[in-house]
Amino acid sequence: MKLLICLAFFFLSAGAEKARFDNYRLYSVSIENQDQYEAMKYLEEHSDSYDFFEPAILNGEAEILVPPHMYAHFDEISQNLKMKTKLVINNYQSLIDEEEAAIRRRKATAFIDWDSYGTLAEINAWLDEMHVRFSTITNIRTVGTSHEGRPIRSFSISRGSGNRAIIIEANIHSREWISSATATYLINELLTSTDPTIQALSANIDWHIITNANPDGYEFSRTNNRNWRKTRAPVSALCFGVDANRNFGYNWLVRDETGSLGASTTPCSDTFAGATSMSEAETLAIESLFTQYGRSTDLFISFHSYGHYLLHPWGHTRNMPPNNATLLSVGVAFRDALRAVDGINYAVGSSNTVLYAASGTTPDHAYGAHGIPLSYTVEMRGNGVYGNFGFVLPPSLIRPNAIEVVAGLKAMINEAKRLGYLGGP
Ligand SMILES: [Zn+2]
Repeated sequence: MKLLICLAFFFLSAGAEKARFDNYRLYSVSIENQDQYEAMKYLEEHSDSYDFFEPAILNGEAEILVPPHMYAHFDEISQNLKMKTKLVINNYQSLIDEEEAAIRRRKATAFIDWDSYGTLAEINAWLDEMHVRFSTITNIRTVGTSHEGRPIRSFSISRGSGNRAIIIEANIHSREWISSATATYLINELLTSTDPTIQALSANIDWHIITNANPDGYEFSRTNNRNWRKTRAPVSALCFGVDANRNFGYNWLVRDETGSLGASTTPCSDTFAGATSMSEAETLAIESLFTQYGRSTDLFISFHSYGHYLLHPWGHTRNMPPNNATLLSVGVAFRDALRAVDGINYAVGSSNTVLYAASGTTPDHAYGAHGIPLSYTVEMRGNGVYGNFGFVLPPSLIRPNAIEVVAGLKAMINEAKRLGYLGGP
């Protein structure tokens, strides 16, 4: 009997064994010609050894996580293709170890502290507590249920009736932990800040914030694989997960003017768009929030990491959207205010032309299908003058990241108001 119990325990724990990234190296690779581009695109789509943190862009940089058993292969192809490479992170696991140590140190307090990353249960408990503390002006709605049955929750703040609204969605890509940590930081600021300029942000504006748009993926990234990006629905005999940020209906899986699809039809790919558009429970949850509040919403933002970008539509085409000048001017206000905090410079512009083709994204859908006039993706800190960390941004940088993003949002909202949005003149 004891043996059986031991065996059962062994199988249970074997099933939950956590992926390790010892001596995995992150390289930045310059892609300067068509041969290099095509080779990298092929690897991005087909290799299950290399992980492209930043995808291959012609005349741009890719960031590629290289496991130790691929060091030699990576050296060979770099030489064959005459690609310039730069070592960015020497041992990815050491960053994950530091991140876990910060979580262990916090266990005694059980609250979110923005000095470490919370579990989903901790984030939800904190949201519940904030709702109890601010019950007259806050609300929590379950807008959907994830594939594995977890509630997808929207936290609302409203201090009056008839306000225009802002919708924020975070952590749809599960490994981008800084995005949900920044979302909870923002909620805390909106409710507890004594700074009158921050108090003003919620005085006449309603907020709907989904801190964890992909709860299954987030938990999986904590318990099994820190690098997990997609949802957790089985999509083929071999693979799990859809990239929910490629699954939205507006111009889903279309090619742009260069022929780029901006998503993948391969189930095992990290940018798999789904078998059909709007196929995922997580996508439908966000859609239900848009259906309910889209018409009263002027500003939508999707929180991501990393790369220091503020991107507006379109992702699916290189053409500019109708109110491009407005989107740019609101974006520049964000960039300038953010840079004034710590000197970090975001690139601002249309998603397709500043970064790369991406179809079926939340911001394209919010703008195109729901008519939300100001729609953005924020790509927060990861690699930069403060150090190189990829998706594992150290807990000590949660606050600096959140502080500069909130400063950017403040300026962005003021500029939007000046232009007549969000109840402005
Ligand atoms: Zn992302």
